[in-house]
Amino acid sequence: MQLTENIINLEKIEEAIKAQENPAPAYIRNILKKTEGLAGLSIHEAAALLNVDDPDLLKELFKTSAIVKEKIYGKRIVLFAPLYLSNECSNNCLYCGFRRDNKDAKRKTLAMDEAVAEAKFLSQRGYKRLLLVTGEDIRSSDIEYLIAVIKAIYENTDIRILHINAPPMKTEDFRRLKEAGIGVYQSFQETYHPETYKKMHPSGMKKDYEWRLSTMDRAIEAGFDDIGMGALLGLYDYHFEALALIQHARYLEERFGFGPHTVSVPRLQPASGAVIHKPPYPVTDTEFKKIVAVYRLAMPYVGIVISTREPKELRDETIKIGASQISAGSRTNPGGYTTPNSELRTLNSEEQFETEDHRTLDEMIQVIAKSNNLPSLCTACYRKGRTGKDFRQIADKGDIQKYCLPNALLTFQEYLIDYASEEARAIGQKVIDNAIAKVELKDFTERMERIKRGERDIYY
Ligand code: SAM
Ligand code: SF4
Repeated sequence: MQLTENIINLEKIEEAIKAQENPAPAYIRNILKKTEGLAGLSIHEAAALLNVDDPDLLKELFKTSAIVKEKIYGKRIVLFAPLYLSNECSNNCLYCGFRRDNKDAKRKTLAMDEAVAEAKFLSQRGYKRLLLVTGEDIRSSDIEYLIAVIKAIYENTDIRILHINAPPMKTEDFRRLKEAGIGVYQSFQETYHPETYKKMHPSGMKKDYEWRLSTMDRAIEAGFDDIGMGALLGLYDYHFEALALIQHARYLEERFGFGPHTVSVPRLQPASGAVIHKPPYPVTDTEFKKIVAVYRLAMPYVGIVISTREPKELRDETIKIGASQISAGSRTNPGGYTTPNSELRTLNSEEQFETEDHRTLDEMIQVIAKSNNLPSLCTACYRKGRTGKDFRQIADKGDIQKYCLPNALLTFQEYLIDYASEEARAIGQKVIDNAIAKVELKDFTERMERIKRGERDIYY
């Protein structure tokens, strides 16, 4: 347990939750005032906010997290889609449809041409960034396979950046993954609570809590300076999970000089073939929003990612209170995009879990534009080397939006010309025209004109 103790302090978390059980409204308001200045949160302050139930105080919390998100990222919301490469897995996570002992699942690992076809399908609809996802299996998580897929997608499609959510690896394999051109390496701890972890992961490599907890150390040592973290909400008390994740982020900051680039908020969904169908510690929609808001205030600089696990009304609300990245049109079965719709219904047993929000990229873009936010398909920071410590230094000063705004506008304009529906084009063009005046960079108008004349992939 020495390794665990270096990374998180379980006793301190329990103690903070207890000590802050009934926080006084004045104390909460003080914290909120302080965090508006991007000061972050101590573990006790985060615990106090997580213990807020009063509807008026919650409104104030959400308002503050919206302000902080805008201070860092402006109005832009980044869009992406997951690309599931394989549902084969040697682990047995009790909550997941891909678990080894789920004998009903039809197993599939995409061949190179199938993976490229999926990526092409998505790029033809306007996506520029994809998140590769895979189970833990000798073949599907084999580094040679992953490198070949990454290369094939970059060479054969106009996808601009690939991120990945793949099982934890050895440092050497992480190094090769990074060299292959992956932007963010993402992996979720699932639960930080050791006993719950043990129960949920009875066999396979994932059984080892400390191997999982030390994943990010290995990834960073191997050269990944953009990493994505998360706790799977519903497995254990959300207060504990959120505080542990914040502690984990602090540990990485202290050790490496930067914390996570993104934090996801996956919430447990029913999955066909899973052992657990109902979360042992259910998280309500209000609690979910509270967690998003607390993450935003505790780690103002992180990209907070909301997946299609969540219902659409809730996703739309999280956009207004601090989320900054959102997936759209997702399929969680390998081959799910190119499989004709009629067949898909019979293939449910290949899916990892049920998704709730089925809106397409175009529909999502319209929702974001209508809510006075700015859809973005930007991939600039990863390709310009604004990553890790550099990204952090710019983001901490609230300067990242100087890049986010023009890059969002340029990529959104590309989208409107190349892929958008009539409705999206009408709404979107107004959003762009209204936002252009806020861009501070001198040659922006000229770059925008170049996009309109047909040039592509221009970014700061
Ligand atoms: N297999 C790798 C792993 O477990 O790290 C990476 C991919 S796994 C498909 C991605 C994530 O999906 C897991 O880390 C877990 O948090 C999430 N997940 C699994 N089952 C889920 C469920 N029933 N509902 C919601 N999320 C789930
Ligand atoms: Fe396998 Fe990941 Fe699913 Fe666990 S969560 S069974 S490791 S795919």
